[in-house]
Amino acid sequence: MPSEFELIRKYFDRPAPSAALGVGDDAALLRPNAGMELAVSTDLLLEGRHFRVGADARRLGHKSLAVNLSDMAAMGAAPRWATLALSLPSADEAWLEGFARGFFALAARFEVDLIGGDTVRGPAGSPIGVCVTIMGEVPRGLALYRAGAAPGDDIWVSGELGGAALGLARCGNAAAAQRLDEPEPRVELGERLRGIASAAIDVSDGFAQDLGHILERSGVGAVVEYERLPRFAGADARQVLAGGDDYELVFTARQERRAEIELLSKELGLGLARVGSIQKGEAGLQVLDGERRPIAIERGFDHFPP
Ligand code: ADP
Ligand code: MG
Repeated sequence: MPSEFELIRKYFDRPAPSAALGVGDDAALLRPNAGMELAVSTDLLLEGRHFRVGADARRLGHKSLAVNLSDMAAMGAAPRWATLALSLPSADEAWLEGFARGFFALAARFEVDLIGGDTVRGPAGSPIGVCVTIMGEVPRGLALYRAGAAPGDDIWVSGELGGAALGLARCGNAAAAQRLDEPEPRVELGERLRGIASAAIDVSDGFAQDLGHILERSGVGAVVEYERLPRFAGADARQVLAGGDDYELVFTARQERRAEIELLSKELGLGLARVGSIQKGEAGLQVLDGERRPIAIERGFDHFPP
């Protein structure tokens, strides 16, 4: 069986041209560009909680990086570097090969370099743990905060909602399963929204809950029209409003920005739907049906529900 160091060398030691020093020393060395702020975010994925026991390793490699790239997108940051910490109950080389393949394929698409990490063996039978930390750059003052939404702003959603939740229901819908297992982070959209969006977040826990974070942080309310929400074909209202793991962007923008955003949608070949508007006061979120009657909304996912 290969040693810890052989495993690291074989599967995770790749050239990191964007770093002064990558994998192999006690720490990596980075050279952030002048005038940039460093955006840093971490996500931990645990077997049995975030992914099924026996989940495909390549897809997991993709997803573990994708969810972090999505956080960069939601900040308007360009992803640059990542670290990877793995806890594995055994050194399964077929698993490591698949995981690395999925991880590096996505990293290459966005020119993200893996610059370090940690590899530990968990006790026999322990769940696989995958923790990725991502670092990105955003020009000083241009990051997209959750706190920037103002009354009168439009609310926009990229792509479609509810696909990942539909996939989780294991209904045999291959497109929905793909949305769950291999989400597409909206990195380019996030970067293009600098200076356009007033606030942004990515949909990891469910549309209603994630938009709720913008509302809370911004001290505003919102009205959303259900019929305007971009819905994944076959997804029900609960999956659209409260399903997690879609990794679309929800953002707000002044009404004067509508034409610009519509143009951006065409340029990126990515649907951007205007679904509602920000209201004065901390009235929370109201979702209206076609007859403008309020729809009851379930909360999204919470690891420690009250
Ligand atoms: P240390 O003992 O200083 O923590 P390690 O022996 O754990 O160092 O790691 C050796 C090198 O390999 C370090 O540069 C570390 O960042 C890198 N590394 C370890 N595991 C991974 C991994 N899963 N992915 C990328 N780099 C890794
Ligand atoms: Mg270590």
